Amino acid sequence: MKHIFQTEINQLLDLMINSLYSNKEIFLRELVSNASDALDKLNYLTISDAKFKDIEFKPQITISFDEKKGILSIEDNGLGMSEKDLIENLGTIAKSGTKSFLNALSGDKKKDSALIGQFGVGFYSSFMVASKVIVTSKKAGNKKAFAWISDGKGEYEINECLKDSFGTKIDLYLKDDCKEFANKWRIESLIKKYSDHIAFPIILNYEETESKGEDENKKEEIVSKSEQINKAKALWKISKSELKDEDYIEFYSNLSHDNSKPLSWIHNKVEGTLEYTTLFYIPNKAPFDLFRVDYQSNIKLYVKRVFITDNDKELLPQYLRFIKGVIDSEDLPLNVSREILQQNKILANIKSASTKKILSEIERLSKDETKYKDFYNEFGKLIKEGLYSDFENKDKLLKLCRFNTTKGEFISLETYKSRAKDESIYYIIGSELELLKNSPLLEKYNKDDKEVLLLNDEIDSFVIPQVGEFEGLKFKNINEDLTGEEISEEVKKEYEPLIDSIKKILDSNIKDVKLSNRLDKSPVCVISGENNPMMEQLMRQMGQDFKEESPVFEINPNHSIIKKLKDLDDKQKAEDLIYLLFDSAKLLEKGSINNASSFSARLNKLIESNI
Ligand code: ADP
Repeated sequence: MKHIFQTEINQLLDLMINSLYSNKEIFLRELVSNASDALDKLNYLTISDAKFKDIEFKPQITISFDEKKGILSIEDNGLGMSEKDLIENLGTIAKSGTKSFLNALSGDKKKDSALIGQFGVGFYSSFMVASKVIVTSKKAGNKKAFAWISDGKGEYEINECLKDSFGTKIDLYLKDDCKEFANKWRIESLIKKYSDHIAFPIILNYEETESKGEDENKKEEIVSKSEQINKAKALWKISKSELKDEDYIEFYSNLSHDNSKPLSWIHNKVEGTLEYTTLFYIPNKAPFDLFRVDYQSNIKLYVKRVFITDNDKELLPQYLRFIKGVIDSEDLPLNVSREILQQNKILANIKSASTKKILSEIERLSKDETKYKDFYNEFGKLIKEGLYSDFENKDKLLKLCRFNTTKGEFISLETYKSRAKDESIYYIIGSELELLKNSPLLEKYNKDDKEVLLLNDEIDSFVIPQVGEFEGLKFKNINEDLTGEEISEEVKKEYEPLIDSIKKILDSNIKDVKLSNRLDKSPVCVISGENNPMMEQLMRQMGQDFKEESPVFEINPNHSIIKKLKDLDDKQKAEDLIYLLFDSAKLLEKGSINNASSFSARLNKLIESNI
């Protein structure tokens, strides 16, 4: 029966066939990785599900080829696919990530082809090398087998067919310029390069011409042979000393479909009350679904080498969702149900120890500033997210945070502490770094040589105010820090009339007017309350009605403008000036004002009178 591909698949196939050909050879890795997943799944069922207990299961991937005809076949005796599975898995893209994949393509062929696998479109890479693909599959437990056939051009066909064993066979009819892949040497070297540490044996079937007999009786005979061409040992069970960097990188590319080198990895074997092995990778780049609610888990759970799940988001804390890797426990029962994993004590234990290991590795990375900057650009937000949720590791996480401050970029709290002038960590929150750097609120701190964190990351406004302290230093919002010198009663009295008239003029625009002890060079500033500008922006973005809180207006009694204003008799002029000062203070805080036209009219008037 004929079917048509979902629109997105067509788009994808079109890309695959016409543009993304710079790294064609990865198709083999993708197909082998799918085969290995199918073996993992059936392996689990034979252990956990009575229906499959009697299946004789010797997991294996078999590769065959016909060099003359240019056909390459990859076969597994794994779970297989029913007719419905074939339609759903190889005709539609269920995952929401695909659209973002298509959007994420940069047009740069090299970069784009590295993205293919990350989006779980591995199977379709077959069409980079094949002009026709036949997938023959029989699902374990089913009687019927089906063949899926397509040339990748808009349509595919599914027909019932005959197949003895469970599992899936994929026949690739190689394009003329890709016939090189139907070659023993080429296949062997690709498997070594990409799939050596797939945990199941990969058998290569090939033919060899052998000479038999002596002299006149000598005959050339074609002999069929089979040979295992990969190590077939779960990499994480091999001891560290036997593994080279290349081995770890190869395994990573299989695990993650990511062709770039990981930033780092942590391989750890634990023996004692609990016995388990973990292998975690810190990737180079953030996956595209990192900030999506339906992000994919990147941790595979195994029990004694048997794959259990790759869809348990509780194996590591959520903020470490960028970590990819494997957890293999020796203590969990093999038939552990996926549902009970959530409350499992053993896993909770592994989770907590793994989190510490990963954070220590990130701390190690942080010693190399250039490397750490790369890491932090990609994942810094998640470290801050951790501050919000992982109280146990708060101190470790705080050490990993970096900030823009009045004294530099990418400053750690340890550096801040080493030059702190008192027991506080001062910070100011706003939406734009440039505005923060020039905020009048910083004047007193700059004068006293006190460093201030400039927080302009959205997440900062949620996280930092609730952090409390770092190694004995208290976090203090400079909006709320009023530790400056007291203003004398005399000065207060002197300015009382001016303050009263400002209150009258600005009225509901302000919460209060105060004499400022925090300003140095600026005449005035506004102090927003708890709702900082960032919070405001966020709420608006989320479509929430945001009622702007009126700010406190502070005036600097030592500034010549304010002194003159105090003695100004021209009422109208004083009013215009007060509005101008207030609006420009708001402009400095937020980068914009609502009433730009009256601001400009007043400014023009003032210029006019001074020309
Ligand atoms: P991904 O493997 O990332 O999910 P693919 O496009 O490579 O994306 O495959 C889509 C789906 O097709 C797989 O999730 C799997 O369910 C199914 N599939 C692919 N190859 C096989 C296979 N050899 N055996 C069983 N199912 C397979």
